[in-house]
Parts: sequence; C-alpha cells; structure tokens
Amino acid sequence: MTLPIYVITGASKGLGRALALQMAEQGHTIFALARPSEALDEVEALLQSSSEDSMSIECDLADLNSIAAASTIIKANASFISGIVHNAGAVAPVKPIKGATGGAWARSVHVNLIGVQALTQQIYHLLGGEQQSRITTISSGASLRPVGSWSAYCVSKAGLDMWSRCMAEEGQAHNISSIAVAPGVVDTGMQLEIRSTPSEDFPSLQSFIDLHEQGQLVSSAAVAGQLIPLVTTHSMEQSGQRFDVREL
Ligand code: NAP
Repeated sequence: MTLPIYVITGASKGLGRALALQMAEQGHTIFALARPSEALDEVEALLQSSSEDSMSIECDLADLNSIAAASTIIKANASFISGIVHNAGAVAPVKPIKGATGGAWARSVHVNLIGVQALTQQIYHLLGGEQQSRITTISSGASLRPVGSWSAYCVSKAGLDMWSRCMAEEGQAHNISSIAVAPGVVDTGMQLEIRSTPSEDFPSLQSFIDLHEQGQLVSSAAVAGQLIPLVTTHSMEQSGQRFDVREL
C-alpha cells in the first residue's frame, strides 16, 4: 500500500517542523522542504526514525531555480501527492513602507506567495485525479488587517488567501481542494524575530512583547495537533474556506 505523501514547506523550524514530525508519526510520508541547514538535516533524521520514506528536500522559495530543482526531486520520488502544506513564511522586512528596500520587500512576497504558486504549478500533475489531494496554505491575521511595518507580509498573506480560493475554484474539476488556515500566535522563531525588531521600525512592538510576557503564545506542537485533522481530512465541500485555529 502506498502511504499518503505530503509536501510541507518551511519544515525545518517552528510550525512546519512540528507538523512534519507529528504527521510522520501518524503514518504519513513527508517531503520536508526548507533551505539547507543543520536544522533541516535534523528534521530528516527525526522523520526517518518514524517514516523511512520521508526525506528533506532543499528549497529556497525565493528562487525559482531552486523550486524547480526541488520539484524534480519530488517528481522522481512520487507519482501522487496527497497534499501540500504551504507553511514557509517570512515576516521580514519589518520596516515602514518608506524605509523598506525594494529587494527585501519583493523577496518576502516571493517566499510567501510567488513560491507557493511556482511549487504548486511544478507538481500539479501529481495532484488529484481519482483521489483527492489537499492543499493547505498557512495564513495569518495579517491577511485581514493591516499592521504597520509589515506591508510585504500583509500583502503576501492577503494574496495567499485569494490564491487559495482561486486554487479551490480551479481544483474542483481535478479533485484538488484548497483551504487557508490562520494558526494564531505561535511560539516560534518568527515571534522571536518580531520581538527583536528595533522599536523605531515597528510601532506594534510592545504588543508582541506583552503577548509573550503574558504567556499567550501557543506551542507549535499544540497548533500542529489542531491543524493536522484539517490538513489531512478536509472535504471538497470545505474547499475555498479560510479557518482560524482559535475558532476550531
Ligand atoms: P519560523 O519558525 O520562522 O519558520 C519559518 C519556516 O519558513 C522555516 O522552516 C524556514 O526555513 C522557512 N522559510 C523561510 N524563508 C524561506 C525560504 N526563502 N525558502 C524556504 N523556506 C523558507 O516561522 P513559523 O512561526 O513556524 O511560521 C510558519 C507559518 O506560520 C508562516 O507561514 C507564518 O507566516 C505563519 N504564521 C505564524 C505565526 C506565528 O505567530 N508564529 C502567526 C501567523 C502565521 P529555513 O529558514 O530553514 O529555510
């Protein structure tokens, strides 16, 4: 029997790592994508202790050539993909619009949005058909409300929500579903990065420090546990919806 294969981006750290490890323990084969690092190597070793066909695949979502190379590896190792979790995300640059350099701004949109389209397109023929494939994009509250100094992140997450809905629309004919999920405030490196921003660059800095000090961040393991049923079992009827883990 072929085990269900899921592609998870941003699987080296934080929420993506927790999702990958828990899903592997539950019997899924995981292709764990991130840029090369010791953290990614460690994830691969952990994955293979519970799921021998799981692997890490190096991929820089800011680079179309790297996405193509990663897709070649996926295609060489799978004839069907049960789902993709587009989890990788970059909040930087945390800078006001007038101060953000064009390169950093565009890079964020590339990682958060353009890379999602490019990766999906490259492996589209491995999705759907007789069996449903499930795409999950990891959204954010920042897709719905503007946050000062997060323009690249807000724009790309808002675009990602609409991309997910477009994917759902087109996927109906191919047995491919697509949902977006906002994960709440998760205790990961991204939150540490946000709290480390110079206050002059980020008007909301204190509110993020307060959330941390008040113990309101949720562990990535706990959020992954909430997400997995949606990632692995959402229905075609739910395709096109946006969920928030705090409302599940
Ligand atoms: P994180 O700990 O910073 O992890 C981000 C992941 O994205 C890492 O695995 C990182 O891998 C990967 N990534 C970043 N740039 C990449 C690139 N150029 N190419 C490939 N992978 C890249 O963040 P997290 O908090 O777990 O975030 C996971 C998702 O949740 C993101 O989409 C984020 O926007 C969303 N989210 C998080 C929160 C929160 O409170 N933490 C709230 C709302 C939404 P490498 O750096 O190793 O390549």
